[in-house]
Amino acid sequence: MKQVTLSDRFEPMSPVATDILEKCTNCGICQVQCVFLTRYGTPKEILTGLSPAKQHSIAFECSLCGLCQTVCPENLDPVEAFLNLRSDAVNNNLIDLSKYSTILGYEKKGTSALFSCYALPQGCDTIFFPGCTLPGTRPKTTWRLFETLKALKPNLGIVLDCCTKPSHDLGRETYFQSMFGEMLNFLQTHRIKRIWLACPNCYKVFKTYAPQMSIETVYEVIDSTGLPHRFADGSRPFEDTPLVVHDPCPMRDDALVQDSVRSLLTGMNLSIGKMAFEKKKTLCCGEGGAVGFIDPELAGTWTQKRKKSAGRRPIVTYCAGCAGFLNRTTTTFHILDLLFFPDKTAAGRFKAAKAPFTYFYRLSLKRKIKKNLPGAVFRERNYRPTE
Ligand code: SF4
Ligand code: SF4
Repeated sequence: MKQVTLSDRFEPMSPVATDILEKCTNCGICQVQCVFLTRYGTPKEILTGLSPAKQHSIAFECSLCGLCQTVCPENLDPVEAFLNLRSDAVNNNLIDLSKYSTILGYEKKGTSALFSCYALPQGCDTIFFPGCTLPGTRPKTTWRLFETLKALKPNLGIVLDCCTKPSHDLGRETYFQSMFGEMLNFLQTHRIKRIWLACPNCYKVFKTYAPQMSIETVYEVIDSTGLPHRFADGSRPFEDTPLVVHDPCPMRDDALVQDSVRSLLTGMNLSIGKMAFEKKKTLCCGEGGAVGFIDPELAGTWTQKRKKSAGRRPIVTYCAGCAGFLNRTTTTFHILDLLFFPDKTAAGRFKAAKAPFTYFYRLSLKRKIKKNLPGAVFRERNYRPTE
């Protein structure tokens, strides 16, 4: 993955758009699987054939999944071009962000003093950053994961906060830069060097904007330890109908993480089937780019495509957002539930919490952290940039 700094990520002119105008051959390869490009044309057709106003508005229908970039024979980057258009629309007040009040409100709560929690024990140089959705939907899984990681690294810290990727993806560049920059500054001031992440979206944000830190997923960390995770009676659920793995879009270029997830599953004696469009060529689950807030039908088309490629086979994924989205239409497990509550999960008895209970669980997890990490440097985030 190309690493860039906060200041050069958003540029007034978009070199990627210029690249598309110069090199795109209109071959249509990127349109084959993309429901957005099928609707509006190739990236070059969009940039040349549509008015600037239309370009700014339709950019919010792109799920920012990155599949187009992966398949493009000219190595073009349409996702970056659409993200730049989003950012341009926000900077020039061309978009009504009130349509996104739900997701932006969710993000705002995550970064608030009430829900945020930094607990850094003495000598801590590594933190576990579980993100927003995992702790809310799966508080017990999150705590078991933290205990497992802490056994590997006794002075491990934990941070409950939001990486503000929703703002990033909606083109709120100034807000994102300020919020993420403040978090990073606090962590660096407290000598944090390594971050272990469970959420693929947080992972992508940290990997892109915190190149000075060592960034790893919890899947790589657990897999490298060889910790035993087995079904209680040594049974092999899903033997007749192998599981398939849905790789979240932010992980399409991270073969190591993809392999770690599969290794964890086979380590549990589970059979993994092959699925069309996995790993580098994975498809959006439907949640990407917050498209569902303005066009639920378009977002749902992605979900249906994913369901079709899985067929009747249950899906395992490693993103709480993807798990929630896909599980609406087809059986989907989060790998961490399978690892820590294997029998209950395989039997379909593990239920992820839903809002508003998710907020209650996040607060109870915060209380548990305070109780179990006495003496740690503790902070609640009390920072808001001037917008
Ligand atoms: S990022 Fe995904 S949704 Fe957007 S144009 Fe590319 S393939 Fe289509
Ligand atoms: S695959 Fe690349 S060259 Fe072909 S239409 Fe898409 S952006 Fe253009």
